[in-house]
Amino acid sequence: MAKLLSSVCKLCRREGEKLYLKGERCFTPKCSFERRDFAPGQHGRTAGRGGKGTGTGRASDFARQLRAKQKARRVYGVLERQFRRYYDTAITRRGLTGLNLLQILESRLDNVVFRLGFASSRAQARLLVTHGHFTVNGRRTDVPSMLLSEGDTIAVREGSSKLNYFKELNAYTEKRTAPGWLNRDIKSMSGSVLRMPERSEIDGSLDEQLIVEYYSRR
Ligand code: SF4
Repeated sequence: MAKLLSSVCKLCRREGEKLYLKGERCFTPKCSFERRDFAPGQHGRTAGRGGKGTGTGRASDFARQLRAKQKARRVYGVLERQFRRYYDTAITRRGLTGLNLLQILESRLDNVVFRLGFASSRAQARLLVTHGHFTVNGRRTDVPSMLLSEGDTIAVREGSSKLNYFKELNAYTEKRTAPGWLNRDIKSMSGSVLRMPERSEIDGSLDEQLIVEYYSRR
């Protein structure tokens, strides 16, 4: 499985905002962005974020489009080639390409596990799925990029539910609200996809229009 090798906190500093990639730690003073609110690298502190490709200041249209695309990739933890494939799929679907793209990203199994509150971050959800702790429609899977559809059911695998992590999960999951497009049963540690999310149910800071513009010019 492809994996981001750089420190994920650097990605927040590069984007100039918190992307909440590390679960609970993001809400504590240990958050790297709280302590070092400047771009990474040797000249990060002096250059600020107004330079080439940084998304603020006098950034060009292309730079803003690029940053919007990179931000979405980083939030969902998807590498470029796969992200491009999602975009190509989004074009072929009916409706707005940008919304289609976001819905595809939201329907990834690792994202659904995260949204259901069974993991504190998408990265953790990806790891749990990779280790085979979940079933989809009753079948064990270890593919975090699996795209779910309306009616699909997700559950913690019977053998895995005996692990300490899952035994202690209820208290954490109860504090998290599941979005309206998912149904969740905390007691049985399962959930299902009721429908695809509406735009208002997806991260409002993502700019899908800029992402469409980025790929349209290439
Ligand atoms: Fe970003 Fe979370 Fe790291 Fe803070 S702790 S910089 S929000 S990934």
